[in-house]
Amino acid sequence: MKLAFFDDFKLGVIKDDSVVDVTDAVSGINHTSPQDLISRVIENFANLNGALQQAADSGSGIPLDSVRLRPPLPKPGNVVAMAVNYMEDGTRDAPAPINAFHKSPNAVIGPGDTMILPDVPATIFEGEAEMALVIGKRASFVRQEDASDYVFGYTNFIDGSARGLPPEGNTFYQMKARNTFAPLGPWIVTADEIDDPQELSVKLSVNGELKQNFNTNDMAHKIPRIIEWVSSVHDLEPGDVIATGTNHRGLSAFQDGDSIDLTIEGLGTLSFNVKDDLKRTWARTTRLEMAEQGKEGTTPQLTGKYA
Ligand code: MN
Repeated sequence: MKLAFFDDFKLGVIKDDSVVDVTDAVSGINHTSPQDLISRVIENFANLNGALQQAADSGSGIPLDSVRLRPPLPKPGNVVAMAVNYMEDGTRDAPAPINAFHKSPNAVIGPGDTMILPDVPATIFEGEAEMALVIGKRASFVRQEDASDYVFGYTNFIDGSARGLPPEGNTFYQMKARNTFAPLGPWIVTADEIDDPQELSVKLSVNGELKQNFNTNDMAHKIPRIIEWVSSVHDLEPGDVIATGTNHRGLSAFQDGDSIDLTIEGLGTLSFNVKDDLKRTWARTTRLEMAEQGKEGTTPQLTGKYA
């Protein structure tokens, strides 16, 4: 099942190219916000699944192009993102030590929304294509062999990054937690629809040009280990999100006016826009192309403030 929010955060189930309003099937759930509603639906899904499926089967769908899809998890209690969690097509000898950081729940935006580049002296702004786990039940010190019991489903996720901010050192917070730097969606796909989450193609295009193109089979620390480790740091709740990391080689600059599309196999396409009031520019060169030219790091800023 594919669960979405649309228009003024009505709960919907995706049926082909349409969405069925299933509000009535969850009318018995008291909630304080859209996130609270979806978290409770996730937590009680075993009991609600039948009614939701029946509502979806019997309801008439509204064409997706006539609704506004919203982030399916508008304000998760935890948005954890794994750091350096790919083998980068064999260019790493061994997995980096397991590591992660929090992004702010306030950073979440949804399909069709706009990522805003802030007026800070970043050397580059990037958005990392990531497959995200949606947690299904409270998780505390989960064992790897039990980890799949805690995965409710999956969604597309972008880990927006403002690189190179001073001072050097502890950079994750100011690099990653910014407003609008966590686009996710377009919907949650329940775990039963994905045969093998470690065998999914991930493709990100900027203005229609393919930039990131990798497979989740290149992940360094796999999903069971991720859940084991994160749930040993703090408890996870239904509706929390863990982004599983990216293969950095195809990263390129996000800049004003960009139209971004992220498609993960089985999870649909998350599309959103980028806005920069400062109109800074960078070459479109990816990190891989830089490396192939024998250059270090990311492509330099060409024009605008801080260049
Ligand atoms: Mn990342």
